[in-house]
Amino acid sequence: MLRIRTAWAMNPKALALCVALALALPVQTLPQTPSKVMLIKAAHLLDPRTGNVVAPAAVLVEGNKIKQVGSPSQIRPPQGAQIIDLGGATLLPGLIDSHTHLLLNVVLPTEAERARHYNGTMTVVELLAIAESPSKRVLLGAQNAHEDLESGITTVRILGHSGIDGDTELRDAINTGRLVGPRILASGRKLVTRDSTYVRNLNPALADAILQQEFLFIDGAEGGRQAVRQNVFQNADVIKVTAEENLTVPELAAVVEEAHRNHLKVAVHAAFKAPIQTAIDAGADSIEHGNEVTDEQLRQMHDKGIFFDFTPASYGDFFDRMFEETLAQSLAMRADRLQADEASRKRYDDLIHRLRSPEVKFEGAFDEHDRQQYRDLVQRVLKSGVKFAAGTDMCWFYPGKTCGQATVIALLNLHSAGAPALDMVRAITVNAAEMLGWQDRVGAIAPGKFADIVAVSGDPIADITELERVRFVMKDGQVIRNDLSPR
Ligand SMILES: [Zn+2]
Repeated sequence: MLRIRTAWAMNPKALALCVALALALPVQTLPQTPSKVMLIKAAHLLDPRTGNVVAPAAVLVEGNKIKQVGSPSQIRPPQGAQIIDLGGATLLPGLIDSHTHLLLNVVLPTEAERARHYNGTMTVVELLAIAESPSKRVLLGAQNAHEDLESGITTVRILGHSGIDGDTELRDAINTGRLVGPRILASGRKLVTRDSTYVRNLNPALADAILQQEFLFIDGAEGGRQAVRQNVFQNADVIKVTAEENLTVPELAAVVEEAHRNHLKVAVHAAFKAPIQTAIDAGADSIEHGNEVTDEQLRQMHDKGIFFDFTPASYGDFFDRMFEETLAQSLAMRADRLQADEASRKRYDDLIHRLRSPEVKFEGAFDEHDRQQYRDLVQRVLKSGVKFAAGTDMCWFYPGKTCGQATVIALLNLHSAGAPALDMVRAITVNAAEMLGWQDRVGAIAPGKFADIVAVSGDPIADITELERVRFVMKDGQVIRNDLSPR
């Protein structure tokens, strides 16, 4: 063997032939597997880029990409193409949740529990989750990802609270076909300053071990750069920073510069006026939440091309409904556990019924003042011409709903707070795609883009709640669900 190999190696002609054969062999011996071709037909196709509706509509899908879009008479599918006829449905691009936390699944704490802690919800909610086993969290993330996809959310951006690498690993497991879920942009660990709200009120003896699981610290400008590099090492797709009062412009600017040098965008959590200004001055790519943004700041964001990412879960009654359902289920479980007698059972059932009834609301459950502020916020952002998208900040356990169902309910609050239906759809398709830097891949049903397509039975512009009832989901050219033309 050795002699033969030496002989081949010493003969350049033989070696060249060998290389040529090696290169040619796979092509000649492997059977050609042509990409699967599918023609999807439906009564309507809504293009969120223009608001135009194609009716009737057909989409030719080859492999995982969209090849052609038009009316059925314009498109000639090749022989053997699979036809998926969705009848009277409306096609839309797959939905995008541009701000989520799939590896966090928090039960809303009671007011009494929140009041026990200096920084309220933060300590109870996030830090308890961090103390969970990373394996448990990533399995939960896998379940949430699958549930999102079932509800038509074909792309998500996970912005922190995933442990050290839970989000990047979940993304890779989906991308390699080991799990089914949406496309994921993962931020890795969140960048925060040492005196962030997350850190306060922690037991100092345990703080470091807990915090390392979830955060990277911005210790001055150079520390910020190092934190970005750490996430680059973990193959993050985006950098997430939480900006509070104590974060300086030079620190954040260093983070932004290092991220951009690595071709990553920077999403900055900023809810109040001063951190929002820090994010604008440092050149962030998107401002998450932005609840207290001023008109002048919106003007600056517009001029700099910074995205405003609405997180509308808190704009309506989402939290009240979720909290009431949590209470209702815990009462039901309590009645079961106590094996309540008939009279007590009736009292429990009566309470549960009242909690679930949309007509019966606890006095003061909804804060009308806050709601008005959110309605104003939505109007001001839309009027400013600033680029906008929407994400849920989803990280809660909503009893009786899947993560996907709860996500869509939370997103639709943007419409309840005054965003017209088409703007609502744009915020979670074409606009979100641009904010993510994926406008060439997702966000529209157009030739060359990934075949991420959903369908609803009715007209989503006439009734936006159609999005809560997505009946057909295709991701990457694969049918994930089809309740409209089941085989
Ligand atoms: Zn968030």
